[in-house]
Amino acid sequence: MKKCIRCGQMVPDDTRVCDNCAFDFLEYEESKHLYESKEDPIVPKEQRSSLIDNPILCFVLGIISFLFMALFLFTADIIIIYLIDVLLFVFLTYYFSARPTKNKLKPFQVVGVWLANIAFSVTIFKIVYVLIDVLF
Ligand SMILES: [Zn+2]
Repeated sequence: MKKCIRCGQMVPDDTRVCDNCAFDFLEYEESKHLYESKEDPIVPKEQRSSLIDNPILCFVLGIISFLFMALFLFTADIIIIYLIDVLLFVFLTYYFSARPTKNKLKPFQVVGVWLANIAFSVTIFKIVYVLIDVLF
């Protein structure tokens, strides 16, 4: 026997829909993950602010990677200093994306990582493109 989540009546374990209130157990099981909210990671008190700093840093670094990628992409030659900047900021973005964050700020981390992913891919693309141009 199990207890109906809505009306509290005891029903057999294999019940799909509650006889009393028509609560749908199968649907509940399938969509349960939508309602469960995850706990924020537990860190020592003095590192508590890093849960906010990490995703924001990740986001900002992602934007910077993206801007350097644009500089690198729209200059005719391969300018090494821009290339180094792109790689450095992409690396930093990934570094901060791997650190713990508040769940509510997770989207900032995700956007930061995607900007870094795009920056990295486009940079590699340009290097390959220029190499092919030079070699053939
Ligand atoms: Zn019920």
